Amino acid sequence: MRRGRGLHAAGAGPERYQGYGRGLRGISLAVLQALEDGLEKADADPSVKAVMICGENGKFSAGADIRGFSSPNRQGPSLAALVSLIESSKKPVVAAIEGIALGGGLEVALGCHYRVAHVKARMGLPEVTLGLLPGAEGTQRLPRLIGVPAALDMITTGKHISAHEALKLGLVDEVVEANTVEAAMHLANQVIGQPLGPRRLSLRPVPPLPDTDGFLRAARLRVRERARGCLAPELCVQAVRAATELPFSAGVRRERELFVELLSSGQARALQYAFFAERAVRRWSAPGGAASHGAAPRPLRSAAVIGLGTMGRGIVTCLVKANIPVVALEQNLEYLNVGRKAVMLLLEREAKKMEQDAQALDFHNPARLQFTVDFDLLRDVDLVIEAVFEDMALKKEIFHKLSRICKPEALLCTNTSALDIDEIASATSRPEQVIGTHFFSPAHVMRLLEIIYGRHTSPTAIATAMQLARALRKVGVVVGNCFGFVGNRMMFPYVEQAVFLLEEGSRPEEVDQVLEDFGFKIGPFRMSDLAGLDVGWRSRQGQGLTGPSVPAGTPARQRLGRRYSPLPDLLCESGRFGQKSGTGWYRYERAGGRTATPDPGVHSLLAQYRHTHGIRPRHIDQEEILERCLFALINEGFAILAEGIAAGPEHLDVIYINGYGWPRHRGGPMFYAATVGLPRVLARLQHHSQAHPDVPGLRPSAFLEKLVAMGNPPLKEWMSYLSQQSPRL
Ligand code: NAD
Repeated sequence: MRRGRGLHAAGAGPERYQGYGRGLRGISLAVLQALEDGLEKADADPSVKAVMICGENGKFSAGADIRGFSSPNRQGPSLAALVSLIESSKKPVVAAIEGIALGGGLEVALGCHYRVAHVKARMGLPEVTLGLLPGAEGTQRLPRLIGVPAALDMITTGKHISAHEALKLGLVDEVVEANTVEAAMHLANQVIGQPLGPRRLSLRPVPPLPDTDGFLRAARLRVRERARGCLAPELCVQAVRAATELPFSAGVRRERELFVELLSSGQARALQYAFFAERAVRRWSAPGGAASHGAAPRPLRSAAVIGLGTMGRGIVTCLVKANIPVVALEQNLEYLNVGRKAVMLLLEREAKKMEQDAQALDFHNPARLQFTVDFDLLRDVDLVIEAVFEDMALKKEIFHKLSRICKPEALLCTNTSALDIDEIASATSRPEQVIGTHFFSPAHVMRLLEIIYGRHTSPTAIATAMQLARALRKVGVVVGNCFGFVGNRMMFPYVEQAVFLLEEGSRPEEVDQVLEDFGFKIGPFRMSDLAGLDVGWRSRQGQGLTGPSVPAGTPARQRLGRRYSPLPDLLCESGRFGQKSGTGWYRYERAGGRTATPDPGVHSLLAQYRHTHGIRPRHIDQEEILERCLFALINEGFAILAEGIAAGPEHLDVIYINGYGWPRHRGGPMFYAATVGLPRVLARLQHHSQAHPDVPGLRPSAFLEKLVAMGNPPLKEWMSYLSQQSPRL
């Protein structure tokens, strides 16, 4: 056998995602052409007996260029033609899979007659995560190779599998620890002269199941439920169904139709935007010229977490999982024991999930995880994350202590949800080392880490916090300091509108349903019940909005000259704290229960409330519910951008997708606003604002007005209009 030079040199080459707006290297046209030329040459050359396809630099291929998906000359069909060409080769073709074989890369491997993978290689068809399906015949070949259940799992989730899993599934023929290319050539030499028919997947039948139709129907329901309005997983199921019902060529035609349908759905664009936005936010900048390119992080060799409540437990868990030794501290032994048990339980569960890597966690080793009530043990840690009660006086006391005890270069982080980072930093002698690291609950699961710099936070501190996000496999987003930062600040007007809608005539389950149908994982009332209604209640008491500090004679439904709803306070006063107490906006099977049932008690409380305040309930349609909740949230987003609290709309979108259950296939709130069209968002806000003049959250942001006046520019240009500020901005 001779190693076809063209094939090797131009084989499905390595991709490097170079970030938003810059060129991606995928299976480019040049690579396709070189593969085609090489194959033709090999076929024509009688001295070549077999062909091996491999990648360069230890990577088989990360697939097609994502930007190419939406261009008119996209590669789907031509890649498919190449895969067919490989399969029809008269000489055996062996894929040598090193590193990764993803998307189009794996489809190329499926066209080969044999596949050899390196033990560390990973394979997958991630198209679904970008709103597409494997459009180079992957949905037709994979079920023929590994059966419908395994193929569906890979195609509808986009997950990557290891070489060993691939071997178990029959996706590869051999897994090797040494040189994959040599092993592939060795295999090629062995199979020279053997019949290729049985190795051509297009000629194979799909292995039958006892009830294929029933299996596919159940799978379709399952993915529909999980996808919440995202089309791609469901169309993936349809494509696999085509493989089971149609001859190969007709299945391929169906795959192509479904691919085109997805491409034109708008969801693919939103998902691809989300993909690039997550890369874009890795670069950060802060006022004063600090930016990611000029700042190096400090090493993170050890950490401490203060407070082992809901958040602290999850934070300790993700630090241990990231192999960072942790000191976990509580206020007294009683709380420490409760916290220790909870952390151990979480870690046991995580270890079970990780299976073979469980040993690596090593959390019974005190050198890796230590529980204490003694602040002196924090002397040498590189990083402290405070997660005690949301109480400014308490946080300041702790930060004062930390600045006395910790080494000078230690990063001091607070997990506050909304409090002023500068005020917390003022309790220390080193405000440049203080930063907000806002985790989301459950902290060991949620991907978002909102990173909040204060007035004095150093670029090194920001870079180190971003490094922490990376180490914890989270998406770090750097934002400025204001009440509620970005995520919660945008959430306040959204939840406020949801409550106003109840006053006016809606029920909690109706509002939740509309927003869940939109694609949110969970509506605002279910979410409030989950988080605990007492949290917001305490915060409102602290702000003087409710409780004994409200001056006598204050109108029940007004605070500081604006509309206020005391409904959430009334719920708490009657002991309804949400899931934890078994009642909230819904009823639960018991305290701590998870199954929400509409509560007649809440319905009569609402009726009584409206009667007391002389509100005549009206029917509120879905459109009004959506517009008032979403546009109020988006409006706050424009205010945040105008104030320079976030560097761009992508930051807001990444925060909402990863921290607040915003449907990814809608690309985030600001992307959604751009899709709806800013003139419409503005017009509807104006409309609702006129109907509710006492609600500042509905008054259109000056920045939104300006963008509309400038002709509704595309999202990526929005920030450039901030530099040419209008007198109102
Ligand atoms: P929690 O009430 O569940 O836990 C707080 C823990 O801090 C308790 O175990 C308490 O004993 C401990 N603590 C109090 N004083 C202490 C001291 N002096 N020294 C050591 N430990 C002390 O609270 P939580 O929900 O985990 O919230 C913690 C922080 O995270 C708050 O600032 C909150 O606003 C923020 N946060 C919460 C959520 C959430 O969903 N719960 C989400 C994001 C951020």
